[in-house]
Amino acid sequence: MIQMNILAIGAHPDDIELGCGGTLLKAAKNGHNVFMYVVTKGEKSGDPVQRSKELFESARYIKARTLWLDNFGDAEVTTGSKLVSHIEYFIHRTHPDIIFSHATSDYHHDHRAIAECTIEAGRNNQNILAYEMPVTENFTPAVFYDITDVIDEKLKLIELFVSQRNKVFARIEAVRGMAAYRALQSRLNTSITHVESFEVIKLCFASDFTLLSLPQKALPKGAIDSMKDSLNDVIEFENPAQAGEFFESWNKNRVGAGSGSIATTLIDSEVTEDIRDSMLHAIQSKSGLKDFKKDGADNSNQQVISNQSMNSKES
Ligand SMILES: [Zn+2]
Repeated sequence: MIQMNILAIGAHPDDIELGCGGTLLKAAKNGHNVFMYVVTKGEKSGDPVQRSKELFESARYIKARTLWLDNFGDAEVTTGSKLVSHIEYFIHRTHPDIIFSHATSDYHHDHRAIAECTIEAGRNNQNILAYEMPVTENFTPAVFYDITDVIDEKLKLIELFVSQRNKVFARIEAVRGMAAYRALQSRLNTSITHVESFEVIKLCFASDFTLLSLPQKALPKGAIDSMKDSLNDVIEFENPAQAGEFFESWNKNRVGAGSGSIATTLIDSEVTEDIRDSMLHAIQSKSGLKDFKKDGADNSNQQVISNQSMNSKES
């Protein structure tokens, strides 16, 4: 089996899960490397700490290898070089065979901005698909992925987002119904009862008609410069398997929910030394950008990033 790297990008905690949670669950079960990049903490629709905690639990459930949670303002995501640079950076970190992102026609402006910026950031990538959510309109499915065997797990995944349970877009019956409807529409087989579907942004075949995967290009200097200024706002969770324990301990010790960056909340709170150290370690270990600051040469930068590669691909 060829082990694939899959990068899923979403605006808010729960977007990725609603759009391609079944696909990711199944991919991880089958030994592929799943990475998640979430652009905001969703603070306009709930306590950002609670929402972030739910997201970490979700990444753990999916068995994602790494989750990155950025600090763009919820409902304030716009297209532009900053967002393109951030997405470019995480594409480079993960060298994905497939990128899943929002659809350009999505109902939410944060989603649409991320869809547009993913297309630009992924211009050198070979395979980009757009996912739908129950409230997405004007969606034209072109690629279907059978999630019949993981549909119940997908629903459990959505239920992890306790803070969003009263939201219409996260209604379990709608999530199940959409998957059943797309399965019917795919006209594949009566044994395939639930499907996630995608629009094609870009799809490239190799000569044997498997997905094309080319060597990665260097990360543009503009993206490196942009990330240098804001990477301290990004929380990386390399080992989501420990997320539950980590947050349990954190919640016991933190003072108030706070707002804005989790890192800020944490550092400002009266947390125990070891929790603060764990979090700082998570923050500091995420990039190697301190090396970028030391040496601005493109080749060295490339080396730093390559050394961090968590990908072990067979070809
Ligand atoms: Zn969203």
